[in-house]
Amino acid sequence: MKKVAIIGGGASGLFSAILCAKNGAEVHLFEQNARCSKKILVSGNGRCNISNKNLSPNDFFGQNPAFVAFGLGEFGFAAFEKFVNSLGLILETKEDGRAYPLSNEAKSVAKIFEEVAKILGVHFHLESKITDIKKLLTEYDSVIVATGSEAASHLGGNADGYNFAKEFGHTLIPTYPSLVQLHINSPLPNKMSGAKLNAEVTLLLNHKKVSRVFGDVLFTNYGVSGFAILDISQMASVALMNYEAVDISINLLPTYNMQLLSAHIAKVALNVPELSILEILAGLIPLKIGQVLLESLEINPNSKAENIHTKLAKKIANALLNWRFEVSDTHGFRHAEVSGGGVDTLEINPKTMESLKQKNLYFCGEVLDVVGRRGGYNFAWAWASAYLAAKDITKIR
Ligand SMILES: Cc1cc2nc3c(=O)[nH]c(=O)nc-3n(C[C@H](O)[C@H](O)[C@H](O)COP(=O)(O)OP(=O)(O)OC[C@H]3O[C@@H](n4cnc5c(N)ncnc54)[C@H](O)[C@@H]3O)c2cc1C
Repeated sequence: MKKVAIIGGGASGLFSAILCAKNGAEVHLFEQNARCSKKILVSGNGRCNISNKNLSPNDFFGQNPAFVAFGLGEFGFAAFEKFVNSLGLILETKEDGRAYPLSNEAKSVAKIFEEVAKILGVHFHLESKITDIKKLLTEYDSVIVATGSEAASHLGGNADGYNFAKEFGHTLIPTYPSLVQLHINSPLPNKMSGAKLNAEVTLLLNHKKVSRVFGDVLFTNYGVSGFAILDISQMASVALMNYEAVDISINLLPTYNMQLLSAHIAKVALNVPELSILEILAGLIPLKIGQVLLESLEINPNSKAENIHTKLAKKIANALLNWRFEVSDTHGFRHAEVSGGGVDTLEINPKTMESLKQKNLYFCGEVLDVVGRRGGYNFAWAWASAYLAAKDITKIR
């Protein structure tokens, strides 16, 4: 019987443990925390966006983008869904392709995976932080490094996997926080902290527009958060790492254009000249945001609407549709959902996840230089890479 050691009881470690044990291996799972699955439990705001029906290599970033193609082909959404259905875990797929457990609870995913692993005889070694990987390799036939990334250190995120890889001469691609909030070089977000709205966010790198997304934006004491921000954060984070100028332009009213909006403001001002300029904005955006926006334009919010002339209406409309902020930093690994960079995938067999530097040593999940978009892609990679490693180790047919 093959003896397999798995370092890390997160998504890819737990899943590879199940598959190795199902195929007859003696599996020992080492987890530094007192329990497994910490990131699964908090994922998708407690709902676990477990995968995505529309998986493609284009949804992933890394120095070697083609690396994920084989894994996604071998163990894509349909194969994953079929497998978890067989364990009784039923998924619900939304219109945009995002899949969640039908229970709508991340806990059910962790519970089922952990219980199935126990039933299959996986030996759980909790509160067992591995420090000596070379020793482990002498004691087991195969070792899987499933230690994840530095993201979310309070849930177990650390750099151990990178250090293990270095011991075998692997190259590391510099890591950076991704799916993360952004810091803004201005006191304005702090002044509207807590205000939230649906907006269109354009990312500018070195003053050129590179990406545009729709979604919610939340102003905070350090800058901006919300799904739209997380969605552009990958590119922003890489650019910051490369010392590029990073700016965002927030369109607070994406359903309007310049002409429509300035005409609307001018018309309301004409209809109800007794309203304050701030009150006119309050009909369009949250009050707190309107107050700060007018302040940034040096317009008295209490000034009467009758004072709005065409030029002023255009000035306000322009700010509403194109409010620029300079991004100074990300909110850091601790707050990031994932990390980009990691073990160089050119040194890993894309069909097996085995190290090309050390036989019987495997890497899966986020420790590798693979990071997905928001939408279930990071778990999809954890499952697919775990499948490939387990398949190779136990020769699943
Ligand atoms: C708040 C949040 C929400 C998220 N939501 C989603 C989502 O909805 N959909 C999605 O696709 N992705 C989501 N992600 C990302 C997803 O959780 C990760 O991509 C995924 O968990 C990575 O799996 P992994 O197995 O590589 O690492 P992890 O799941 O992080 O597991 C690594 C494990 O290794 C352990 N470990 C580390 N070093 C050692 C050591 N030396 N010895 C023993 N154990 C060790 C850690 O404690 C940890 O348990 C979210 C992440 C966060 C933080």
